[in-house]
Amino acid sequence: MKKKEEVVLRDNSKVTPSTAKILIEALPYIQQLSGTTVVIKFGGNAMTDEALKKNFARDIVLLKQVGCHPVIIHGGGPQITQHLENYNIKSEFANGMRITDDKAINVIEMVLGGLINKDIVNTITSLGGKAVGLSGKDGGLIRAKKLQGEGDFKGIDFQNTGTVKSIDPGVVNLLDGSSFIPVIAPIGIGDDGKTYNINADIVAGKIAHILQASKYLILTNTNGILDENGNLVQSINTDGVKRLINKGTISQGMLPKVYSALEAVTSGVEHVQIIDGTIDHSVILELFTDQGIGTMIRRN
Ligand code: ADP
Ligand code: MG
Repeated sequence: MKKKEEVVLRDNSKVTPSTAKILIEALPYIQQLSGTTVVIKFGGNAMTDEALKKNFARDIVLLKQVGCHPVIIHGGGPQITQHLENYNIKSEFANGMRITDDKAINVIEMVLGGLINKDIVNTITSLGGKAVGLSGKDGGLIRAKKLQGEGDFKGIDFQNTGTVKSIDPGVVNLLDGSSFIPVIAPIGIGDDGKTYNINADIVAGKIAHILQASKYLILTNTNGILDENGNLVQSINTDGVKRLINKGTISQGMLPKVYSALEAVTSGVEHVQIIDGTIDHSVILELFTDQGIGTMIRRN
C-alpha cells in the first residue's frame, strides 16, 4: 500500500479571485429575486440540445436553491413537427400559429404532455431539483377556447389550436410555494370538453400575469428582437413593438412572444425579457449579471 504523504503543499497560483467577484456580482440580484416567482418560457434550440438543456436545468435548480420560485412553461415545436412526420401528418402554420387537426392533437398531447414534459422534469430532478410536470388539464389549470384568426388570417380554421380562456393557478401556487418546481405543458381543455393545443408563449404570458411574476423570461432560438435593419434591440416599449408588428418586422414565431410579453408588461409584470436560449446558462446570465442579455420589453 502507498504511504500517505505527511505534508501536502498548496499551489496558490490556482486561486482565482475573479470567480469570487462573479459570485458576489450575483448577490444583489439574488437578494432581489429571493421569495419571488419567475416565469420562464422554455423553447427553441435549448430544448433539443442535450448540453444546453442540462445547463438550463442547472440554472433552474440554482434559482430554487437561492429562494426564488421558477415556474416553467415549455413549447416543443421542432419535436412536435418531427413526431407528426413519423405519423405522416403535415405541419401547417398561419400567423406563427400551428393549425392542429383531429389527428395531430392526439400526437401533440402525447409529445408535449408526455415525452417533452417528463424529459424536462427528469432532467431537473436528476440535478437535485424537485420538478413536477403538469398539463393544463391538471387541477383545471388552463381553460381553453378555439383560436380565431384575425386580420389577414380571418376565416382560417385553426381547428384544435386554442388560446387561453382562463387560468386557475391553484395547483401552481401549491407547488410554487413549496420545494417543488412546476413544469407546464401548454395543453388546455375547452368548455366543449375538447383538448386544445396552445402556443406556449401565450400560456406563459398569461401565467406570468396571473402569478404577478417578478420576472418573465422567454427563451428562444435567436438573440432577441431584431429591428428593421436586423440590429438586436436592447429594450423596446409597447408602442415600439406595435410599430414593428405593423411594419411586418416582427413576424411568425416572434409574434406570439411579443403578444405574450405585452400581456405580461401591461398587467404589471415588472421585467419581461426575450433571451437567447442557445447561449449556455442564459437564465443565470440574464438574472444574475450586470450585463444581462436579449431584449427587454417595457411599458410605454
Ligand atoms: P421558439 O421555438 O423559441 O418559440 P420560434 O421559431 O417560434 O421559436 O420563434 C422565433 C423566430 O421568430 C426566430 O427564429 C425568427 O425566425 C422569427 N422572427 C420573426 N421576426 C423576428 C424579429 N423581428 N426578431 C427576431 N426573430 C424574429
Ligand atoms: Mg414558437
